Amino acid sequence: METDDKRLAEEEKTINEAFQQLLDIYLASQHRRKVELITKAFNFARQAHKGVRRHSGEPYIMHPLAVARIVCEEIGLGSTSICAALLHDVVEDTDYTIEDIHNLFGEKIARIVEGLTKISGGVFGLQASEQAENFKKLLLTMSEDIRVILIKIADRLHNMRTLEYMPVNKQYKIAGETLYIYAPIAYRLGLSKIKTELENLSFRYEHPEEYARIEKKIEKTQQERDILYSEFTNPICERLDAMGCKYYIKGRVKSPYSIWNKMQKKHVAFEDIFDILAVRIIFTPRDGEDENNECFKIYNALTKIYTAHPDRLRDWVNKPRANGYRALHATFMSKRGEWIEVQIRSERMHEVAEQGIAAHWKYKAQGEENSADEQLDNWLHTIKEILDDPQPNALDFLDTIKLNLYATEIFVFTPKGEIKTVPQNCTALDLAYSIHTFLGNHCIGAKVNHKLVPLNHILNSGDQVEILTSNSQHVDASWLTFATTAKARAKIQAALRRQQRLMQNKGEELLNEFLEKEDLVKFSNNIDRVWKFHKLKSREELLEALGNGSIVLGSEDKDALLGNKRFRFPLFPFFGKKSEEEKDTEHAATRFDSIDHKHPINLTDENLHSSYIIADCCKPIPGDDVLGYYDDEHHIVIHKRKCPVADTLKSSHGDRILAANWDTHRTLYFTVPIMLKGIDGIGILNEITTIIYQQLNISIQKLTIEGKDGIFEGTVWVNVRDVEEVHTVCDSLKKITNIKTIARLD
Ligand code: MN
Repeated sequence: METDDKRLAEEEKTINEAFQQLLDIYLASQHRRKVELITKAFNFARQAHKGVRRHSGEPYIMHPLAVARIVCEEIGLGSTSICAALLHDVVEDTDYTIEDIHNLFGEKIARIVEGLTKISGGVFGLQASEQAENFKKLLLTMSEDIRVILIKIADRLHNMRTLEYMPVNKQYKIAGETLYIYAPIAYRLGLSKIKTELENLSFRYEHPEEYARIEKKIEKTQQERDILYSEFTNPICERLDAMGCKYYIKGRVKSPYSIWNKMQKKHVAFEDIFDILAVRIIFTPRDGEDENNECFKIYNALTKIYTAHPDRLRDWVNKPRANGYRALHATFMSKRGEWIEVQIRSERMHEVAEQGIAAHWKYKAQGEENSADEQLDNWLHTIKEILDDPQPNALDFLDTIKLNLYATEIFVFTPKGEIKTVPQNCTALDLAYSIHTFLGNHCIGAKVNHKLVPLNHILNSGDQVEILTSNSQHVDASWLTFATTAKARAKIQAALRRQQRLMQNKGEELLNEFLEKEDLVKFSNNIDRVWKFHKLKSREELLEALGNGSIVLGSEDKDALLGNKRFRFPLFPFFGKKSEEEKDTEHAATRFDSIDHKHPINLTDENLHSSYIIADCCKPIPGDDVLGYYDDEHHIVIHKRKCPVADTLKSSHGDRILAANWDTHRTLYFTVPIMLKGIDGIGILNEITTIIYQQLNISIQKLTIEGKDGIFEGTVWVNVRDVEEVHTVCDSLKKITNIKTIARLD
């Protein structure tokens, strides 16, 4: 009893200390002093969550406190947001209502808490429709008050920081969702530091071994980089000092996640990534000097010391990125012959780069106009516009929006010389839609720099573009193959649905006429017989086909309507039922509720092929980081955790994700493709096969090799037992001097 009391007293002390720290940070910020209100919110939340604990065993209130601290310290928001953060789980988890919050804390805070409560269920539910709804809610609340999503991101960041206490299958779901949607939104809102942390944490939980491996390599190569850094920056400092610059300079090391991402995307080894180190110069602008000019002055000074890469100057000073980021990036050749990126920014640009839009507001409050603000407004406006259209396909919708979150921008000009910011890979059609829906729907092409181009022409920065339209033009389904912006895709889909409905109405008329002529009565089951007879999927499809004339009703349809027609296919062809003998050869189905979700699935030599399906998209082998997915056919499919298909599943059907571990004993063989590139020469093939066959005693399933202009490229499919053996093969082949690149293909 006594020890319990003592523990509780300790906890009270920890809570009070955490709150005091929050207040200290708040008081050190530039916000108005509303300590009383914050204290009231804290006390209210504390008693509301009393007696409840988190998975970690901590008192629940420690979570809202941590979220409020992130909101204040890392995002730079003020008292309203701090209070809302303290109260964010009260309505969701306790008996208090929004009215209570409203009465106690007023309209503003209550509305933010309401927004947060609405989206508290996680973005992704079990059903696709649920997902679309939740995601829409998230975007809607975001476009109403951006603070809702900022606090939500802080909430997610704290949950990611404490993810170790969650069950493993939940970890994948949360990490997957974070990478899929929260990191891109954080990026889009300019919270680059938080975005990097979210990505890194997701990576650490999804691929713990790879994370550890990369971290170790970063550590091991640190000394080398330190030398490179000081050799490179010493002359820079000398020169900047001589110019009388006030600045500080520091190295930025690429995060494990972005290193890994690059290795995956470019099929390169850690050692081949040259931009792990970048250099930042952050200066205090001189009185009366324009900070944009000063960036270029510093750049000029650097060109006197090092040679700049001609294609790698990025001017985000005069034309900020859509997320508000401003800086001048340039790449220089070091004395050791390595390219090093230098990022030049003023203190204030730096703050915006780290804290995002909240920092913008801070400067805006001081009476500064800001083009980045306008861009954010435009973007939120586009989101609202997209939300106005009904979106039947949730995942497609997610993907298009997500696409827009990461897009880099280019600039194009209107015929009148106005500048427009558009995402990279934007087509003429996308641009037409970005100006006006009518222009998009009737677009027939464009003139780019006075030359005629088709709809799908991809625009380049600096193009002058005139959109050409015609009233007889109509939206075509094929447009979806090249429209890239969320807005264009949403508008095209909406127009297609309108056309579809028109066709269906016309089809309905034709069907009625036919029935009348043949003196038949319309029942839903006889109409069902007609679409099944035509091997279509639904009544709507039939009506559409009738409307556009691809099906004309005749005597056979009459038979079908009367039920006289013998069907040429089984009665329920669309439910994917399999015959008994087919089933025998397949994997055993598993009941979802019979699965133990608390523990990872154990993949053994015995059960691997009988109880599970190895996903065809990524073909994992023992040793790969994997997860299980319970599919619609009641099978458990094993994917690599990094498989793009699994990524989508994690976010869309997170509740069906199961943790999985290998417990195999090297009795099974798997075929793995390994890609090789290098310099062609006599005997290379012989060398490869000798190493694999004779030295390693591993069999080769297939080998393709192609030489051109002295370079060869090939793929060898080896039969191995696990990832270790793949590494052995790669490491041994690396010793052949003429092989330059080697990678396992997914
Ligand atoms: Mn929370």
